[in-house]
Amino acid sequence: MTFIWANSGDSHLVEPDDLFRNALPRRLAERMPRSVKDADGRWETVFVDGQQFRRRVPRPLLDDEGHAMVGRSDRANDKALRLHDLDAEGIWAELVYPSIGIWTSSIRDPELLAAGAQAINDWAIEYQRYSARYVCTATIPLLSVESALGEVARAADLGFHAVYLSVVPPAGADDWTSAVWDVLWASLEAANLVVGFHIGTEPHDASSFHGNYYRGPGGALLNYMETTYGGQRAVSKLIASGVFDRYPDLRVIVSEGGATWGPFVADRLDEAYRQHASAVRPRLRRLPSEYLYENVYASFQHDRSAVAAVTAMGWRNVCWGSDYPHLEGTFGHTQKTLHELFDGVDEATRRRITVGVFEELFPHVPPAPV
Ligand code: MN
Repeated sequence: MTFIWANSGDSHLVEPDDLFRNALPRRLAERMPRSVKDADGRWETVFVDGQQFRRRVPRPLLDDEGHAMVGRSDRANDKALRLHDLDAEGIWAELVYPSIGIWTSSIRDPELLAAGAQAINDWAIEYQRYSARYVCTATIPLLSVESALGEVARAADLGFHAVYLSVVPPAGADDWTSAVWDVLWASLEAANLVVGFHIGTEPHDASSFHGNYYRGPGGALLNYMETTYGGQRAVSKLIASGVFDRYPDLRVIVSEGGATWGPFVADRLDEAYRQHASAVRPRLRRLPSEYLYENVYASFQHDRSAVAAVTAMGWRNVCWGSDYPHLEGTFGHTQKTLHELFDGVDEATRRRITVGVFEELFPHVPPAPV
């Protein structure tokens, strides 16, 4: 079996327990997101800024001999050992998000969020400085436009090439359709920072799905499905409100949300734009689908249909992602997954999805070995 190298459009660092205690005054550190597992390890409580959320701890399935059927590496936070993991899996460069840091979208105090984002970013950039294979995302505090702009400027100075934005702004902030964010899009475009919308990052308030988990029959599958829609909504909001009209060089990737939704959403938006033209505000310079096909990117990990988004539907901005080191990801079976996805796929398409799209977004990254 040949060894396939692929860049990952979806990876994570895992914040160490003492990150916020070391970086922030105690009164702030204790309100940053943290997880406390129950004694039996089956449930955890996530504490965020005075709020508490209970959730079942994702656990690997075990085979008959007690071995994990899907992998989860605990070496992700060692800058050198992580590269060994990547080398063994065939993962070259990665777009790297936080883990518990994703819960910062539920913070309600602007001062806490701004300080916490700085702490996360100062920690994350050290990985990128260690290896150009790590393309870390800067967390942007979104409770005020001023603090968002300040952190974008700091992130650009620190050398980030991408930012992480929650698919919905925090409670109390304006939605992505609002013109108050135009200065944010302008600064991201000017600094050539790619926007990473990672799915499942809605604030955990009652108005988002996170406040309304499905329980009972089918709950696990339904909740997993729900996590995917937020990325599609975020992209639709940017297209429909004319963000890409005004900032045509802005590029956005939806990480971990699959791929074939892209052409589907493009079709739906075009149909609405055409058939409901009298109600459409603002009018756009180009068709919604053109923005989706050109300004929007997506990463998938296992989806069998994803290659067809490129070959059969013509969306070229689809890349693979490992989700390393998370449980939904491919750690421990990356080569098997890549072969299942790409055996029999033509060379140009395989290269586009495994390495080309990532290199287009992040041309500074050294090319993957072939
Ligand atoms: Mn992920």
